[in-house]
Amino acid sequence: AFIVNAHAEGVRLGGLESKMGIKASDTRAVFFENVKVPVEDRLGGVGGGFKIALEILNSGRLGLAAGSARGTREIMRIAMEHARTREQFGRPIGSFEMIQKKVAQAAVDCYAIDAAWMLTSSMVDRGGIDFSLETAACKVFGSELAFRTSNEALQIAGGIGYSKEYPYEQSVRDSRINLIFEGTNEILRALIALSGLQQPGEHLKAIGKAFKAPLRSLGVLGSYLAGRAKRQVTKPPITQAHPALAAEADMIASNVHDLALGVERVLMKHGKAVIERQYLQERMANAAIDIYLSIAVLSRATAAIHRAGEEPAAAEDLDMARLFIPMAMRRARRHIRALANNQDARLTAVASRAMETGELAPVPETDR
Ligand SMILES: Cc1cc2nc3c(=O)[nH]c(=O)nc-3n(C[C@H](O)[C@H](O)[C@H](O)COP(=O)(O)OP(=O)(O)OC[C@H]3O[C@@H](n4cnc5c(N)ncnc54)[C@H](O)[C@@H]3O)c2cc1C
Repeated sequence: AFIVNAHAEGVRLGGLESKMGIKASDTRAVFFENVKVPVEDRLGGVGGGFKIALEILNSGRLGLAAGSARGTREIMRIAMEHARTREQFGRPIGSFEMIQKKVAQAAVDCYAIDAAWMLTSSMVDRGGIDFSLETAACKVFGSELAFRTSNEALQIAGGIGYSKEYPYEQSVRDSRINLIFEGTNEILRALIALSGLQQPGEHLKAIGKAFKAPLRSLGVLGSYLAGRAKRQVTKPPITQAHPALAAEADMIASNVHDLALGVERVLMKHGKAVIERQYLQERMANAAIDIYLSIAVLSRATAAIHRAGEEPAAAEDLDMARLFIPMAMRRARRHIRALANNQDARLTAVASRAMETGELAPVPETDR
């Protein structure tokens, strides 16, 4: 990594991009032509640049997640004020359950992303741990939450939501970029899945070698098979959760257990070719993100109960945890099941056919 003086010879800025959102932030291409960089402008040692770049991306992703949470809160604050005051059918629209559902969903998801970025920030502060998966999980969840909620806020506003006079359309435009920069959400899902696969993959490689020379490797195989048998029936213990959240802790433990077994099966079936299996990567990443967010929520709500001294005083946190964790764990379970039972071959057939012909789906009979 190195620093380049913006006024150095050979550095040229492209024109200002005309963007759909975040217009207060200038975006331009930067061209470097035979630029000379003096050795004192090098950051760190030679070959260490990639690590520096990753660390910068890590902190950027965490900031983006926290910013998305704050943006979500602000646009919903405006939408809720509208829902309180706008009357239809003789009552405020906020009294209708379809509007309340949007508010409640945004609230629990906002609680969850706040829990996750705070937990991840504490890891960053403690130092000495690789937190790239956690920051990626926060970025993916936070960016999708802010965009989804901006759309829902606009929907709560109804027709005026579509008008530039109100902040909803700007929120939709501004929040859209978060799914693209600091690593697109597709790339981050692949990163989460493939990094998560690394350790079990190395373990299974050692086991694979042991199977080739079983007599010399009885110890390795014995402990693997014993460990596998144990893993089939035992869930990881979650010991620190408040007893009021025991059921939610158990749901998380079940999903951690099932995901570990699912990952092992994927690796045994696909081996290195898993690098090409993005349907599976996406499911593993989605399950891992929901599990991480759920653990963060469990931890935040547990701390809130301890702080309050009694459950009723932490009723709001308990509601959040009791809504978010079962919802997230249902999603995770669906993704884990689909690692084995899916329609992936058919998805590929449909996508390939569409891209080969350029026609998305069969043309309506009326257009033929
Ligand atoms: C407003 C704005 C500000 C920016 N600021 C900066 C900045 O400050 N610094 C900087 O370095 N960059 C910046 N960028 C660049 C930004 O990081 C990239 O646009 C982004 O990483 C995506 O790269 P790309 O545009 O080349 O898209 P592509 O890489 O072409 O991707 C296009 C689509 O294909 C998907 N895709 C690509 N590869 C794969 C794969 N292997 N598997 C599955 N899907 C895949 C992507 O997820 C995406 O959906 C900025 C961009 C914008 C729009």
